[in-house]
Amino acid sequence: MNYISTRSAELGKRYAFLDILLGGLAKDGGLYMPVRYPHVSNAELLHWRTLSYADLAFEILKKFCDDVPAHDLLALTHRTYRADIYSNTRDTSLAKRITPLKTLGIESGTSLSLLELSNGPTLAFKDIAMQLLGNLFEYALATCHAQQLNILGATSGDTGSSAEYAMRSKRGVRVFMLSPYRKMSAFQTAQMFCLQDPNIFNIAVEGVFDDCQDIVKAVSNDHAFREQYQIGTVNSINWARINAQIVYYFRGYFDATHHNDQRVSFTVPSGNFGNVCAGHIARMMGLPIEKLVVATNENDVLNEFFRTGKYRLRSAAEIHHTTSPSMDISKASNFERFVFDLLDRDSSRVLQLFCAAETKGGFDLSTLDDLTRVREFGFVSSRSTHTDRIATIRDIYRRYQIIIDTHTADGVKVAREYLEPGVPMIVLETAQPIKFSDTIREALDQDPPRPPAFDKLEILPQRFTVLPADANRIKDFMRTQINS
Ligand SMILES: *Cc1c(COP(=O)(O)O)cnc(C)c1O
Repeated sequence: MNYISTRSAELGKRYAFLDILLGGLAKDGGLYMPVRYPHVSNAELLHWRTLSYADLAFEILKKFCDDVPAHDLLALTHRTYRADIYSNTRDTSLAKRITPLKTLGIESGTSLSLLELSNGPTLAFKDIAMQLLGNLFEYALATCHAQQLNILGATSGDTGSSAEYAMRSKRGVRVFMLSPYRKMSAFQTAQMFCLQDPNIFNIAVEGVFDDCQDIVKAVSNDHAFREQYQIGTVNSINWARINAQIVYYFRGYFDATHHNDQRVSFTVPSGNFGNVCAGHIARMMGLPIEKLVVATNENDVLNEFFRTGKYRLRSAAEIHHTTSPSMDISKASNFERFVFDLLDRDSSRVLQLFCAAETKGGFDLSTLDDLTRVREFGFVSSRSTHTDRIATIRDIYRRYQIIIDTHTADGVKVAREYLEPGVPMIVLETAQPIKFSDTIREALDQDPPRPPAFDKLEILPQRFTVLPADANRIKDFMRTQINS
């Protein structure tokens, strides 16, 4: 399989999977996409139903990364998708399923289920892709004879811890993760700072999250520094992350149906559009998905687009700081991948639109044709607010005695607007409630369940360095660590 950029597809430049693995944006500012989507046959769907998660991941990934020898890829998926890594389940006997499906009940004539994606080491769905990325990076560094990779990132929560747990003790990889000093929850801070691995560097920046992001940009724009120290990123535009996420749409479909003539819908709590983009690709590959329901919180850039065809970026001042913080975004970084397909892969038009987005703050595809096309791709959307979140957490607890997290609550609220008799609805459960316990207490007046592995988390010794919000000081720190 070859890859192209969304902004210069017709220029003929092609990349292999391993060429783009460690990269983020393409040189032209676009995103990497496979030149075509592999189609899944009925015979394959029949066979895949019976496979373990690791074997299913192998079957799907090998269609996208045929430059990784099959026996290596099989070893990688088996090393990644193991019951002992995804053991933070409600029901421990289900850990071997990696992403178990939990049916809540029948509503409006169909089943409503949660696809549990947050049973990994950091209790958020990002682990599913990031854990594979960690193993792939180590593999690529070893086989390509590159000596090292120094990952630099900024986080306000889920991404940073997920990256650190995936990269800890990986040969050749160091992680430098910036976070705003004393601005994350005690749980999230402890999750990151308790790591004692010598290749993980937590940098607590004296500033806010935007300062952290600005520093990452400044360092990345210093090309000499980037080359000399082999700086890379693991942000949500990384193709391999999307690729890994395709797998659980298949797994969820198989678990919600009895045969392959049935259709299901998925609702996805969305921010940067990475998760639901994987669902779009699964559907393009032939998985019988009826609707892809995009759920947003008060930061509703995506909901606005899917309802009106208008894509309007938000300024930093317009971002709402909500109780589903991992969906608090001003632009959806993976959205360009869908627009590429929507416009029949016309990369000059994609280039024109996203340049307009950068200079004029948005673009408009509200003509009837474009909106009809959006529906043909199965997309619909809605939004949820803090009040909805609280009401949904209460309602799900009252009806089903299950506590869901705030992001999943946004998903359930929106999913209920699109239930159709006979079409099972699967809501992706993107985090566990313990990560957002303040809001759970507000809703239920009790603490969410804490997986046993996190028993003493907040009292473990912490390892981090406090630095001023100054890119040069961060570079000095990195230089010293890399050279030591
Ligand atoms: C990252 C994240 C999301 C948003 O996913 P995208 O791929 O950015 O759309 C939703 N919920 C949780 C808990 C997350 O960590």
